[in-house]
Amino acid sequence: MHNNNTKIAVVGAGIIGINCALALQQKGFQVTLVDQQGIAQGCSKANAGHFATEQVFPLAEPEILWQMPKLLCDPLGPIALSPSYLLRALPWFLRFMFNARAKQRHANSMALRALNHQAIEYYQPLLRVAGAEHLLTRQGSLLVFERTDLVKITALHRQYQQAGINVQLLQKSEIAALEPNINHNITFALFFPDVAHTINPHQLCVVLADYAMKLGVCFHKAQIARIETDDHKVTLYGQAAQPLLQVDKLVLATGAWSKSIVNALGYKLPIEAERGYSYTLLNSSGLTRPVASAERKFIITPMEQGLRFAGTVEFSGLTQAANDKRAEVLYTHAQALLSNVAELTRSAPAKQQNSIWSGYRPSLPDSLPVIGQAPSHPNIYFALGHQHLGLTQGAKTGTLIAQLVANQLTDIDLQPFSIRRFN
Ligand SMILES: Cc1cc2nc3c(=O)[nH]c(=O)nc-3n(C[C@H](O)[C@H](O)[C@H](O)COP(=O)(O)OP(=O)(O)OC[C@H]3O[C@@H](n4cnc5c(N)ncnc54)[C@H](O)[C@@H]3O)c2cc1C
Repeated sequence: MHNNNTKIAVVGAGIIGINCALALQQKGFQVTLVDQQGIAQGCSKANAGHFATEQVFPLAEPEILWQMPKLLCDPLGPIALSPSYLLRALPWFLRFMFNARAKQRHANSMALRALNHQAIEYYQPLLRVAGAEHLLTRQGSLLVFERTDLVKITALHRQYQQAGINVQLLQKSEIAALEPNINHNITFALFFPDVAHTINPHQLCVVLADYAMKLGVCFHKAQIARIETDDHKVTLYGQAAQPLLQVDKLVLATGAWSKSIVNALGYKLPIEAERGYSYTLLNSSGLTRPVASAERKFIITPMEQGLRFAGTVEFSGLTQAANDKRAEVLYTHAQALLSNVAELTRSAPAKQQNSIWSGYRPSLPDSLPVIGQAPSHPNIYFALGHQHLGLTQGAKTGTLIAQLVANQLTDIDLQPFSIRRFN
């Protein structure tokens, strides 16, 4: 069968699904993109916009395990676990701890390095043809320190270097030369010159989706509740008995909502929603590049609309109400990092008009996504679980899925990303 006769549905129109749909359509497949909410209304909407290719270390590390009890006691701290969700999250945390072991962590880190390698370069040609190159700015990023001991910072610097990351250790005066609005309490910073950011993550999704539609992708707003499949066809159902769509192949890019749909196909998937928040201080400026705080565990990114403070992790499932206080705490943290936040707030619209948002990061305990073919369903593919790095890894994931579906050699070995690791 030629590609142009093959019909493919991609379920999930976040940054991952959009990239999969675009890459598949570029290969000549007939793609329908399906989402229950619309284009980029999930986790891809108002994230920190950081193409964080330097983040090659899995989140499970021995140090964080020791800090965990203290971290979890503070409801406004960087990591929160809703007491009512404790039992449900326990199996995920046990797997997370298992992944903190040195050998496992090293293997996961190598897989992350492979996936992050040149991930920004996968976006560049797409943004060029979509006429949206201005949405990717390559000015590097800073990881700043207030209290951490220089010995520890130097060790981290070395760790990045050993992982092949281009990184520089900066002193106060060098930091001030790059970002004059950074406060004097910042002692050192790691500078990653090769990384990039977008000034509008939502718009980036929209322009890529628009371009995909120009090439022929159809968009269908619907919730997929059930999937039936045989050797030749995949049939997608909503709540009603009659099918919504029948296709030759299916890509599931359903983010944090993936568990039930993947379980129903017969696969285990230990995915949890790590809710994160962002607070956008409108009409403000004063930064050139993303600035992340090592101790406060959040990031500030200059956006088209203003400065965005983003971060925090909350384990509370997919249905609990958002706790906007967790976003407001980010504003307080930003005041500690930047000298001009108070002044920007005074000159900006009233605080209520600044926008608070939360999104569910789709996270697996080994910090790796699932990218690959379903072992018992040759016409179903998974592209989900990109945790804190979905924006970064989106374009590369799209390319890899398109190569896989087209039976081509993939740019990297996909074995570490197989769902088999949980089954
Ligand atoms: C505060 C915060 C800051 C972040 N900052 C960064 C960053 O700087 N850099 C970075 O790389 N990443 C960042 N991330 C992570 C990144 O946002 C996510 O990894 C990414 O958005 C996940 O994309 P996705 O397409 O998998 O999921 P989503 O964007 O959530 O899309 C999934 C889509 O699937 C749809 N869907 C699900 N189930 C169904 C169904 N049954 N039927 C129909 N539709 C369905 C949903 O409606 C949704 O639109 C951040 C996340 C947060 C929360």
